[in-house]
Amino acid sequence: MEYGTVPARDGLTLVYSAAQDVPGVDERRTLILSHVPAAWERLDGRTDPDRLATVDGLPVVLPEAGTERADVSFDLPANAFYFLSSWSERRARGANGARALYADSVYARLGVPQDVVDRYLGALLAQLARVAERAGLAWPAPARWPGGATHAVVLSHDVDFLPVRPLVDSAVQGAKTLARHLVRQRDPASAARAVAGLLGAALRGRDPYGCVPELIARESALGVRASIQVAVARRHPRDVNYSVEDPRVAAYLRVVRDSGFDLCLHGSYRSTEAPGWYEAEVERLASALGRPEGSRQHYLAFDYDALFRAQERAGIRYDMSVGYPDHPGPRAGFSFPYFPYSLAEDRPYDVVEIGLVLMDVTLQSYLRLDARRAWGTIEACLADLAAKGGAASVVWHPIVFGNARDPGYGELWWRLVDAVRAAGGAATDGRTVNAWWRARACAYPSFAPAARAA
Ligand SMILES: [Zn+2]
Repeated sequence: MEYGTVPARDGLTLVYSAAQDVPGVDERRTLILSHVPAAWERLDGRTDPDRLATVDGLPVVLPEAGTERADVSFDLPANAFYFLSSWSERRARGANGARALYADSVYARLGVPQDVVDRYLGALLAQLARVAERAGLAWPAPARWPGGATHAVVLSHDVDFLPVRPLVDSAVQGAKTLARHLVRQRDPASAARAVAGLLGAALRGRDPYGCVPELIARESALGVRASIQVAVARRHPRDVNYSVEDPRVAAYLRVVRDSGFDLCLHGSYRSTEAPGWYEAEVERLASALGRPEGSRQHYLAFDYDALFRAQERAGIRYDMSVGYPDHPGPRAGFSFPYFPYSLAEDRPYDVVEIGLVLMDVTLQSYLRLDARRAWGTIEACLADLAAKGGAASVVWHPIVFGNARDPGYGELWWRLVDAVRAAGGAATDGRTVNAWWRARACAYPSFAPAARAA
């Protein structure tokens, strides 16, 4: 595929133009997309679209009509850009603090399907395949993911809690868990199972809440490696309870690098609030345990541009923070990695975003699903990603694996890993997908300046 200002001499041509006539196109092997300047002009303003239209069977928020001779009558790239650039949440910034919730999103507000950009892509590819057939041209087989996989699921664990003082910290965590099940969620059965898990772990001499070495051992045995997110700063009450400068913590977490796992920075809750904070966290992790390539924000709390700017400066190559804490599925309408876009500088950031589509906390705390019902949601989400041939990240917190917190949730993780592999997907880590995605992006002139190789 090549970008150009004149039609291709052979093969398919995809025209994106506002002009009524594009000279020199062979209509038989050309697909014409509407370029509608009025749609793009709305993105220069501050007013968020307030209604959802259906055009050519697709959900559209910028429905201005293009030229009559176009095959796609609305500006598909402008609509895709609106979602992929998280335009709505960036314009609304401040109203919700540093955390974007599905409940406040354009998806919830206008009833937009969360895979809207996937639908645009699917419609575009279907039309192109029809043109190729009409012109008697070959249509390429779908691209594959690392290892020849049909889709990819980036496994990850955010280390939010470690029993630094085993007895005291486990007692506090146990009391919190009980209070949550009994008081907030009025679920005595789960409380009882959590207590049984806690006692069982204590009797076996196992750590009921830390679980990092156990997790790494079992994943290594299965031949998979998750990206492990370690936090290094505490500036907010919601931040983690441990410090990597504590020699016991550093010794405990050394297993991540020693086992060849992908060590990432779990950026602290307020890390994007002040210039230099995020970069300092990268340096702290680099000197305590090793230099990270990837990252996810704790609580998915961040300022959009501050995060990606800081990641570029700190040499972070991929991020996994773009997901909703309160809802599964994509937050940018898309089930594939992408380069987030700087609206102020009109360029892609040199960071690969591998969006988050599934999290244990979403299912347990926001959707209040017990392990049995949560599996249905996990299965549907994985099936959707497999059907699209996409790649996204999922996170389970190490704390659930001791079975002393959210009973059954640890087992769901192993079931998830098995299901991904049984469906022909790659269950892999962030650095693998980052390297693969960058190698592909470098082949396209429009990405080449931003997408340095991994
Ligand atoms: Zn976290």
